[in-house]
Amino acid sequence: MQDEGMSDVPTAEPAAQSAYDLDLEMSLLLFSSAPDRWVTAVHEAARILINRPWVRGGRAGDELCTLALLLFARTYTGERQPHDVPTAELHDALAGPADREPQIIDEIELALNATGQSYDPTSLYAPPLWRIFNTIRSQYGGRLGSSLADDIEPPAPSPSPMRGAVQRLTELLTGCSDQERRQATAPEVQAGSLTIEADRIRIVTANSLVRLCCPDDHPARVVRADGPSAIRECAQGHVSEHWQLDPAHLRVAAARATGVRPSSQGVHQAQDLMIVAADMPRHSDPNEINAFLRQPEYPIVGRDDIIEQVRRKVDGAD
Ligand SMILES: [Zn+2]
Repeated sequence: MQDEGMSDVPTAEPAAQSAYDLDLEMSLLLFSSAPDRWVTAVHEAARILINRPWVRGGRAGDELCTLALLLFARTYTGERQPHDVPTAELHDALAGPADREPQIIDEIELALNATGQSYDPTSLYAPPLWRIFNTIRSQYGGRLGSSLADDIEPPAPSPSPMRGAVQRLTELLTGCSDQERRQATAPEVQAGSLTIEADRIRIVTANSLVRLCCPDDHPARVVRADGPSAIRECAQGHVSEHWQLDPAHLRVAAARATGVRPSSQGVHQAQDLMIVAADMPRHSDPNEINAFLRQPEYPIVGRDDIIEQVRRKVDGAD
């Protein structure tokens, strides 16, 4: 009780609540150089999914991304607008065997090639839209690179995130009428980046608080989320990505530090920006998950306590 003043983190709760909202998922797809047709496809996909529950830890972002890619593939030639594509047509395009990767992958790849969004092996970075597509259709979930580095047997492919999303979308679209869709309004999210300038930027894990630095070891002064990418920049202007820096986590951290919505664009200032590491849930509160920041009301549960609880269960005491 005497530590009441220590728990003064007024913006923590709103940030946690909005960590999975539809507008944040949209901002992760709406990068600053996004083609207009992609922006309208994302907004139309959001309109279709507006009544879907956007729950903590859910995979609704995969559904938004899959539907937006399909709408883009069906309208990139300009003959139709995304809102002209009937719901029944979307449903039929998604329906298919559940034990196979979705057939829409080929169609999306063709659309990205035709609009200059495909991957060029001679370039350092893939176009953002290709990156979005490649993440959701990947059957390796980032496991391929580390296995090659370790020179061990490559992992077997597993179902892509898109395969699961297609299954859920097929069910969702069964209950969605064109009329209902026309009446819905998507959140207004601009295509653009969110930049935070801060005196101190740290990456938070359960047991470490590490200052974010550039590869030359200068402290990062700026971080920026732009669609699927997140970058850091030091005072010398070195710009790079970092494996623990994720755009969704960065946006939630920015909301916590400055009070803006996680889906916001523009440039904001903070004194001390703490970004939860990419492999932890994005809604995590640094003050709860980190051993050094943890408040007394969130005590560290040691192994002894867990063993004691298990023992009591086994003994039938509980
Ligand atoms: Zn530097």
